[in-house]
Amino acid sequence: MKLHNFNSGPSILPLPVLEEAARAIHDFNGTGLSILEIGHRTSWFQEVLQEAVTSVKQLMQLDDSYEVLFLHGGATTQFMQVPMNLLDEKATAAYADNGIWGNKAAKEAALFGNVVIAADTSDRKHTYIKKDLNLPENAAYLHITTNNTVEGTQWHEYPDTGNIPLVADMSSDIFSRPADFGKFSLIYAGAQKNMGAAGVNLVVVKKDVLGKVSRKIPTIMDYSKHIAAGSLMNTPPVFAVYVSMLTLRWILAEGGLTEMERRNTAKADLLYNTLDRIPIFKPTVAKEDRSYMNAVFFLENQSLEESFLELCKKEGMVGVKGYRTVGGIRVSMYNALDLESVQAFCSLMEHFAGKNG
Ligand SMILES: *Cc1c(COP(=O)(O)O)cnc(C)c1O
Repeated sequence: MKLHNFNSGPSILPLPVLEEAARAIHDFNGTGLSILEIGHRTSWFQEVLQEAVTSVKQLMQLDDSYEVLFLHGGATTQFMQVPMNLLDEKATAAYADNGIWGNKAAKEAALFGNVVIAADTSDRKHTYIKKDLNLPENAAYLHITTNNTVEGTQWHEYPDTGNIPLVADMSSDIFSRPADFGKFSLIYAGAQKNMGAAGVNLVVVKKDVLGKVSRKIPTIMDYSKHIAAGSLMNTPPVFAVYVSMLTLRWILAEGGLTEMERRNTAKADLLYNTLDRIPIFKPTVAKEDRSYMNAVFFLENQSLEESFLELCKKEGMVGVKGYRTVGGIRVSMYNALDLESVQAFCSLMEHFAGKNG
């Protein structure tokens, strides 16, 4: 049976990427060595890293005022690393608290300096994006989570912050659509949602925001030192960087971010239209803030949830149970997911509603 992989992360990757990565485990580019066995300072790996960096710059259309880093850890590491590098002890950073991840990021930042919550959407269980922000004039930066993986909301238009640097956690919608990436001073993303294997973070940073804090930064946490070392301060997660490079290569070959957006829009439109049509399913997110990556919804009659999940399992629909603290259903539709999988899921919903409506 063909499985339909709606996992929220780690999640679906393009088949050609998996096939190439599998080959490289045995023999990387005809070298006779595994990608797991080569040194990170070999010209072989340098080429991998270089292609990854160049692809990011090309996809995001960034000029040379930006640096692209591939660093250890998940996005959670960046919750700490961002304020450590950008927020002085007496300074204030603004954080949009639109859900679980943004909330965690704000809490980490408070360990390093002052934090003002620019928007708090907990009043409606984070089912919308608050665009009217409380932004102190002297804020060191504003931090947003562009896509709220758990709650299923997404910023469809980025806030205007004037002279205040904009920082974003793009873990779950990175490379899913074109955007004005030049608006951001720092973008980070854990790779395992839409870009590759777990274990590596992409960090894109505009150089002019660095070097402004007075604290001593541990070497491995210091963006400036990673820039100086070209992401090779110590052994990077070689295989994870390699898989990201292959995914970036795949995105470019498929037509870049415009094509990713076309596919993602088609999938999300189909899913939400179906949800809105069938009364037994209840999407809770405000229409204009719905995520194109993660759709969160509930069954009107909660007692049907278990049998719906049971049916999903039987039909090979993987990863559709909602986040443990939110409940309900969550369907993740990252770049690599085919429209066909969403069609299959929608048919299943229709079928279920026909029997239980
Ligand atoms: C998954 C996720 C995280 C956490 O990532 P880790 O790599 O597990 O640290 C943070 N932010 C967002 C938006 C996410 O989707």
